[in-house]
Amino acid sequence: MPRASSSSSCRASREAPQRRPLRWAAPSTAVMKFAGLAGGIGSGKSTVAARLVERGAVVLDVDQISREVQQPGQPVYRAMVARWGDAIVGPDGALDRQAVAHRVFADHDELAALMAITTPAIEASIYARVAAHHDTDRVVVLEAALLARNPRLYGIAGLIVVDVPEELAIRRLVTGRGMLERDARARLANQPPREARLQAADFVIDNSGGLEALDEQVEAAWAWLGSLPDGRLEARPSPAGPSPPATGAG
Ligand code: ATP
Repeated sequence: MPRASSSSSCRASREAPQRRPLRWAAPSTAVMKFAGLAGGIGSGKSTVAARLVERGAVVLDVDQISREVQQPGQPVYRAMVARWGDAIVGPDGALDRQAVAHRVFADHDELAALMAITTPAIEASIYARVAAHHDTDRVVVLEAALLARNPRLYGIAGLIVVDVPEELAIRRLVTGRGMLERDARARLANQPPREARLQAADFVIDNSGGLEALDEQVEAAWAWLGSLPDGRLEARPSPAGPSPPATGAG
């Protein structure tokens, strides 16, 4: 009896640490909502994103992620410097994005090399960050200018497109951001047409009014996000899939 008792208590104490994690890891019924946020340059994506965050959304900015994986010390940084040399490193040791852009955008092979170096790391980071919220009741929004080219990337359930007439976007970029008008025009000319974005949209935010009008639309978008089906994160079919959402050198 003492033995049995001691053996059973011994078993209990060995099993306990295994049972506890199982109980803690019991499947949650919550599943995230998963959406995309796209729009032309200067359309107001960041302004909308900030308002969604105020309402409780988790916004993942693909351009920001792309910059993070290119920080000094990261494998992507080392691979880029190994290929293009110190000419792409600024005086502070960080990548000189202009120099990178200069190196790759006129040369298809170099651009393909940049994609091959950066895309897997960007995708892995996006995937991990979205996955961290999968079994929660959060609204997860992936913000990327080019998502309209592939609105269901990563299993996104719905795409919000922020829309403004091009002349208004240019005016805001010049007055609000201090961008040179010719640079704003050049960047706008480089992006897919407004109509293509609108066609890809599941929900359009018209940002041609003031900030108060924008708030009302963000409120409607927030309600729409809550009505999306439960999110299902999917791996991107790379490398044969469509263009990635960001190159990190634009
Ligand atoms: P980018 O493509 O460069 O990342 P974006 O789409 O994120 O730009 P924002 O930075 O949000 O655009 O907005 C561009 C500029 O327009 C900013 O200066 C912002 O403050 C201003 N802006 C955005 N929406 C409005 C609005 N409804 N009324 C007035 N100004 C606005």
